[in-house]
Amino acid sequence: MKAVYFQKHGDVAVLEYGDLPTPTVSAGHVLVKVHACAVNHIDLWTRKGWPGLRLQLPHILGADIAGSVAEIGSGVTNVRVGEPVVVLPGLSCGVCEWCQRGNDNYCNKYTVLGEHIRGGNAEYISVPAQNVVAKPENLSFEQAASYPLTFQTSWHMLVAQAQIQPGDWVLVLAAGSGVGVAAVQIAKLFGANVIAAASSQAKLDKAKELGADAFVNYQEEDFYKKSKDITAGRGVDIVFEHVGKATWQNSIKVLVKGGRLVTCGATTGYDALTDLRYVFYKNLRIFGNLMGSRGELIRITQLMQEGKLKPVIDRVLPLQQAKDAHRALANREQFGKIVLKVSD
Ligand SMILES: [Zn+2]
Repeated sequence: MKAVYFQKHGDVAVLEYGDLPTPTVSAGHVLVKVHACAVNHIDLWTRKGWPGLRLQLPHILGADIAGSVAEIGSGVTNVRVGEPVVVLPGLSCGVCEWCQRGNDNYCNKYTVLGEHIRGGNAEYISVPAQNVVAKPENLSFEQAASYPLTFQTSWHMLVAQAQIQPGDWVLVLAAGSGVGVAAVQIAKLFGANVIAAASSQAKLDKAKELGADAFVNYQEEDFYKKSKDITAGRGVDIVFEHVGKATWQNSIKVLVKGGRLVTCGATTGYDALTDLRYVFYKNLRIFGNLMGSRGELIRITQLMQEGKLKPVIDRVLPLQQAKDAHRALANREQFGKIVLKVSD
């Protein structure tokens, strides 16, 4: 099968396009013919590697996958050969305390496709049957590949962690990112008011199309001051953080009393400074977040089917151009997702 893979960690130059053996399907697994696979920051981090990461090389990246069932292993009853499907990106043991409690994203053995095991930047992938669900009929394969990881993460952040309420003011940082476009839509679905912050007017115009109510161009404006102005000096109820060091202090300051800050990343640095006086004086709550649960992704898939949430695709590139996709994501050129078209 054709695949994009790497044999050593490094910059985009380590990505190779070529042939690898097609995986065989074992009991309880489904062989999916991959039609589309979205690119995420996790692909960039895994490509670069980190201390302690031991992968079986060559490694194939790719967490967000849509395709059709090519073959089923023994015992698989939830899908049939030929059925169009979306692959849930999280893999968990199913039996630990966290999995039993429905928090599979807390599983001690939790991993994401393309991170510790081979992912979807290839014509075929074998995945556990429980990770395969019917593709929403109204979505193309490219659209279906573009939503699982980011919408699942943003949903868990806003709904499970920050417990978003109608009328809340929500500040979404980097609103043009994959998690940002999901956060804007989810916040609007829950009846909140959304301040979208992004680095260009073009991205803010697109955030408006997704329903955002107010806007900060943080290349030109201080998001703390502008958000205070927008809320008549009050501040916001929720800050949707994934920027980290560069924005953290203002993200704390801009919260109203009882406000909630929820973060899923630190793209500008993890060693941010927290002035604890704001935290205790304002009764703030700070939430961390890694991915979301299977149950949340099932609900998101339903809302995609109903058209209440919409995938946002920046561009679709052929699998051979995976390097270009990685460069564009690293440079934050995109609004929404960059998707690789793997096969027809
Ligand atoms: Zn588990």
